[in-house]
Amino acid sequence: MWEPDNAREVAECLRDAAQEHRALNIVGAGTAQYWGGDIRASTTLRIHKLDSVLRYEPGDMTIQVEAGMAVADLQSVVADHGQRLALDAARIDRGATVGGMLATADQGPAQLAFGGPRDLVIGATLVLSDGEIARSGGHVIKNVAGYDLARLVSGSLGTLAAITDLTFRLHPIPAATGTLSIETGIDEAVTYAEAIAETALEPVAAEWISGRLLIRFEGTRSGVHERLDAAAHITGVGTSILDDDEATQAWAQQAAVSSRNGHSAQDTTTLHGLARPSDVSSIVHAAERSCLEHGAVPTIGAGLLTGRVDLRIDAATLSAHAATVDQWRQDIESHDGTVTLRDRPEGLTDLIDAWGEPPSAVAALRAVKAAYDPGDLLGPGRFHPWF
Ligand SMILES: Cc1cc2nc3c(=O)[nH]c(=O)nc-3n(C[C@H](O)[C@H](O)[C@H](O)COP(=O)(O)OP(=O)(O)OC[C@H]3O[C@@H](n4cnc5c(N)ncnc54)[C@H](O)[C@@H]3O)c2cc1C
Repeated sequence: MWEPDNAREVAECLRDAAQEHRALNIVGAGTAQYWGGDIRASTTLRIHKLDSVLRYEPGDMTIQVEAGMAVADLQSVVADHGQRLALDAARIDRGATVGGMLATADQGPAQLAFGGPRDLVIGATLVLSDGEIARSGGHVIKNVAGYDLARLVSGSLGTLAAITDLTFRLHPIPAATGTLSIETGIDEAVTYAEAIAETALEPVAAEWISGRLLIRFEGTRSGVHERLDAAAHITGVGTSILDDDEATQAWAQQAAVSSRNGHSAQDTTTLHGLARPSDVSSIVHAAERSCLEHGAVPTIGAGLLTGRVDLRIDAATLSAHAATVDQWRQDIESHDGTVTLRDRPEGLTDLIDAWGEPPSAVAALRAVKAAYDPGDLLGPGRFHPWF
């Protein structure tokens, strides 16, 4: 295990690895270590010691931090100034790092209002596979000089470069938040969410979790109340406005769909599907069908206006998990969507590939990989069988 203290040492590690033809598994906090294909690397490069704030300008609402800093730690630093980084992926509570968030392109319900990590990053420093240090972007929000390297490594799962620091734009912590809840099926949930999206109410999250629709608003206390009432008018009978404890509990239930916690979940598979928002209900029905056919127990979370569907599969045998994944993946691919296999029981990828049909851009992905990591030293196997 290599545990460099700073970007210069990361560069030395990558130079040494290139000279020795040594494959590296780049790890932040390790919360997404098994996503995608299994890595064939003899050495782990842990970035967690790069955990300092390099520059914070509360007046500009930007912060530059080293890539191994936990998102939760960054949030405590900026909260003192009434600010936040608008990321709310479930695994932040388990210590996920800022570099890991960009490398996995992971985001929670707030994606609807704020986008993903790549939309919040305005500058990045990467160490390329030959040890060269590359910077792009800067500290100001309007900055379009050079290649946008941060977008290049978004979702690259440690296969293109090591991220050593990131500069983010921040948002104010809202004075109030409020959540509306209604027990409903996915089809009605989509109809309600679309009707609310057509108004000027601007929800910051619209999620359906196994039979329940949650809509979240942010703003001033009175503004949030007005918008909750207006949205409840659209969803009608059976709608409740949650108090703070109920809302915390409801959003924790949402987070549990995509985040595997503790040893009790070793037999759990989690999948992350992306498709057109208009296809979300078909994809949820497909997930229910696949699980039913193979005797697996589903928990499903759907970002109704973002096209994200998280499926958690419990119980059943390993081969039933594999058959469920395979069937659901084919369904999503038939809707032009993609699926990322996240956590899974040991041995699952002996039965099925970690990735489904290659996307139409696979030739471009391979060319980028060959240009940035010609020796295939960074995360080899992660995108197998695509490259
Ligand atoms: C056909 C279609 C239409 C959509 N239309 C809309 C719409 O109208 N409105 C809307 O809000 N949303 C829409 N979405 C959803 C929206 O596009 C997704 O939320 C968004 O694209 C997520 O992008 P991402 O980079 O975070 O994806 P990711 O989750 O990062 O990636 C998707 C897949 O590509 C892989 N990947 C990503 N980056 C790399 C990389 N650098 N190297 C190798 N592999 C990589 C990932 O591992 C994953 O398998 C649509 C999605 C699809 C598929």
